[in-house]
Formats: sequence, C-alpha cells, structure tokens
Amino acid sequence: VRGLYAVVRDITEAPSARTDYLTGLANRRQFDNEGARHIELSRRHEEPITLIMLDLDRFKVVNDTYGHGTGDEVLKDIAALMSRICRKSDLAGRWGGEEFVILLPKTEVKNGVEIAERLRAEVEAHTFPEVGSVTISLGVASATTEDSLQDLVHRADSLLSKAKQGGRNRVEMNTGK
Ligand code: GH3
Ligand code: MG
Ligand code: MG
Repeated sequence: VRGLYAVVRDITEAPSARTDYLTGLANRRQFDNEGARHIELSRRHEEPITLIMLDLDRFKVVNDTYGHGTGDEVLKDIAALMSRICRKSDLAGRWGGEEFVILLPKTEVKNGVEIAERLRAEVEAHTFPEVGSVTISLGVASATTEDSLQDLVHRADSLLSKAKQGGRNRVEMNTGK
C-alpha cells in the first residue's frame, strides 16, 4: 500500500438546523422530532408527560408601538425566562411566531400547572427594556396513553384559547376525562 485517501463528510445535523435562530430554543422541527420521541418513551415506561403551550398577550400592540426589533427582544427575553424555569430534561421550543411550547417528561398535569403558573408570574413581574410589562397566556395538558404529540399540542392549544377568552395572563389546564 502506497497511500490511503479518504473523503469524510460529517452527516451530523448542524445545530442551526435544530435551533430557532432568534431565541436559541428548539425550533419547530426539532420540537416535533424530540417531542415525538419523548411521547413514545413516556408511553413505554408508563410515565406521565405534560405540555405547556403559551402565547404572548396583545403582542401585536407591542410591535405596532415599539417596532418589530423591540418585539424580537421581548421574544428573546421570554425564551430566557423559559430556559431558567425549565429542567434539563424538559424540551422548550418555539412553536412559531410568538407561541412557545415546553414538554415536561415525567410530569403530572398538577406539576405542569405549577411550572406554568411560575412562568406566568415571572413574565408578569419582569421589566422588558423599553416595553415595560408583558403578559402571557398558557394552556397545560397531559398526554393520555393514546395521545400523539399532535393530539397533545392540539389539546394544549385549545386550553390556551380558553385562557385568552378568560381574560389573558392566566393558566388553563385539562380537568380529567
Ligand atoms: P392575543 O392576546 O390574542 O394573542 O393577541 P396578539 O396581538 O398577541 O395576537 P395576534 O395573533 O393578533 O398577533 C400576534 C403578533 O405576533 C403579530 C405578529 O406581528 C407578531 N409576531 C409573530 N412572530 C413575530 C416575531 O418573530 N417577531 C416579532 N417582533 N413579532 C412577531
Ligand atoms: Mg399567536
Ligand atoms: Mg398573541
């Protein structure tokens, strides 16, 4: 053998393909992939799993009043507050626009509600540069044994709508079946 020649291509997905560029959280794609895996694991191990979905209240007004750039800064700060509250094993993501999700493995709805309420209170208490006060509405749902990730997201989203209708800056949860 006189020599060896190898061409190596790294097929590992770049972090940028998994991360939301603005907030650094998991992007929708990463959330869908990882989330489905967590649902699968929780089913196999017969463990509870809970999803928090949240949306900024009257965010259009923030953009219209202070501009899109300032709005983006608010989204970044919200993501930072979410990351601070989450455990390492939780999956926090940007669902789209000004909507975020947190998937909490091994967590009953009751504990999910506690975390959602803590986040709601921290956001309300936080002073956002330029803007001042901002609030969020949240829906909290736990998976049944049949639930796909989509089913769970759908349920949390309905609860989020209920929180909006109920006056915003509040948490709604599913109340058993
Ligand atoms: P509600 O309390 O009912 O949620 O009212 P809202 O104004 O937050 O809801 P609406 O859906 O009417 O508006 C959402 C706004 O979020 C409009 C859009 O411009 C803004 N938005 C979505 N994505 C981004 C983003 O990436 N950056 C900024 N700055 N704004 C965004
Ligand atoms: Mg929205
Ligand atoms: Mg909104």
